[in-house]
Amino acid sequence: MEKQVQINLTPAAAADETAIRKIAASLAGIDMAAVSALRVIKRSVDARKKNIRVNLIVEVFSGEDSAIRTITPFIPIDVSLKQEVIIVGAGPAGLFAALRLIELGLRPVIIERGRDVSSRKKDIARISREQIVDPDSNYCFGEGGAGTYSDGKLYTRSKKRGDNTRVLELLCLHGANDNIMYEAHPHLGTDKLPGIISDIRKSILEAGGQFILEKKVTDFLIEGNTIEGVVTSDNEQFKSKYVILATGHSARDIYDICKKKGVELEMKPFAMGVRVEHPQELIDRIQYHGNSRGEFLPASSYNLAKQIDGRGVYSFCMCPGGFIVPSATAQEEVVVNGMSPSGRNSPYANSGIVVEIKPEDLIRYSSFGEMAGIEFQKELEREAWKNGGHTQRAPAQRLADFVAGDNSGSLPKVSYFPGVTPSPLHSWLPKAIGRRLRDGFRLFGQVMNGYITNDAVVLGVESRTSSPVRIPRDLEKLHHIRISGLYPCGEGSGYAGGIVSSAVDGMRAAEAIAKKICL
Ligand SMILES: Cc1cc2nc3c(=O)[nH]c(=O)nc-3n(C[C@H](O)[C@H](O)[C@H](O)COP(=O)(O)OP(=O)(O)OC[C@H]3O[C@@H](n4cnc5c(N)ncnc54)[C@H](O)[C@@H]3O)c2cc1C
Repeated sequence: MEKQVQINLTPAAAADETAIRKIAASLAGIDMAAVSALRVIKRSVDARKKNIRVNLIVEVFSGEDSAIRTITPFIPIDVSLKQEVIIVGAGPAGLFAALRLIELGLRPVIIERGRDVSSRKKDIARISREQIVDPDSNYCFGEGGAGTYSDGKLYTRSKKRGDNTRVLELLCLHGANDNIMYEAHPHLGTDKLPGIISDIRKSILEAGGQFILEKKVTDFLIEGNTIEGVVTSDNEQFKSKYVILATGHSARDIYDICKKKGVELEMKPFAMGVRVEHPQELIDRIQYHGNSRGEFLPASSYNLAKQIDGRGVYSFCMCPGGFIVPSATAQEEVVVNGMSPSGRNSPYANSGIVVEIKPEDLIRYSSFGEMAGIEFQKELEREAWKNGGHTQRAPAQRLADFVAGDNSGSLPKVSYFPGVTPSPLHSWLPKAIGRRLRDGFRLFGQVMNGYITNDAVVLGVESRTSSPVRIPRDLEKLHHIRISGLYPCGEGSGYAGGIVSSAVDGMRAAEAIAKKICL
């Protein structure tokens, strides 16, 4: 017999398995000794009131019935001799497209410009230590894509529950903790992601798929309105009538190739701003009503949004207990982003605070056509590089100074390894962004008492939140609106954002191709 119960506990009781078992059995009307198994299917912390509680939804199994629903296994087909599909990019979209192709009996050939996860670690360390950015192996490029050295937050606004669940299942089958199946805000952590990515590569290779690293796609083979394959930087041709383009939003050269080859692009809204970092303890005290988080509560987070002069100003990719990282993909630019380890145990809380930018805000860049947003991103990233001191050091200002328009003579310690340079961001950020950010921060300070403080620092610039460009596709068949066989997907296509939705998009591209081949 299986019963589902809802339990509301103190944080300490929610960390005690015996306490959960006792209460679950009692609520299910079953003797505790007769409970054969428990399965948590949802867990969330409710910190809205001073009396903080943890809500659990638990399935209670008893008697003979301990048939707990398990994760649907990954059943690979030997695809070594099957029809080939080229996948450009080994980020979440490309990797999950490959896994799905294998389940559907097609052979993925993945071409990735960057290096394998462990070599990539060294390239990333060089950015902080030597201020050198390898344009093919960095926080955005390399095996696993931008997701590998990310925070690994797995929440998504996408409503396609079934598909989202399958992404989480596949992550568990490749080494993720199965608590991601029930946490309200599942999170992997940057320390766990490389192992998961290597394990996914192993599954792809064992099934007969191909994985080519350190090879950059530099051209498409197009005949009439049909894709015939791709060309790489060493002039090698890879031929297939099916190409999944999963290159992420930082592959600006891919958009250039699209333009050159007449693959239509569109502008789309995106967002840019800064990353703010507070002491985690301060955010805990604000969110936990004046208390420290103690032993049983997680490092606290926040989610803020306001409208200022017709544009959204909002927190983005908040990383409790995390680090700010240098996410540039070229030497003469500074881009910041955030990540956190699985324990979320650094003394810092960081978040992007960004301003929505719409195509109509980009009149000044109209000579760049659909690439206007990318040009605006580039300009701001170069400006950050100049104001940071022509290195990967980020320009930074204390938060209260930024809001008041005062210079910061000195800066507190921050988590950003390449270092920071004091800089009056309020004076050089474009007005449409800087003014809205300052107004936005003021309003956030009204919601979170103590948020505006000179113990917090803003770092510039948070410019890669989402793609400023869309590669338009047929909404049902998912191939490019004009080029048959070309399947733009993931974040770079402009139809997904974040790890889970990009992975789901990759799987959908694989399914669309399988459907087309079987017709
Ligand atoms: C520091 C950081 C933290 C983040 N934290 C989170 C988070 O916590 N949660 C979340 O949901 N999202 C997070 N993100 C965003 C997330 O990583 C992306 O949304 C996601 O990775 C997009 O997946 P994708 O497969 O579409 O593209 P990407 O992950 O960008 O992968 C694209 C791949 O294509 C390759 N490529 C590009 N051009 C070429 C070419 N010409 N030839 C061959 N290969 C090419 C790249 O090297 C890259 O590996 C974070 C991003 C960063 C940088």
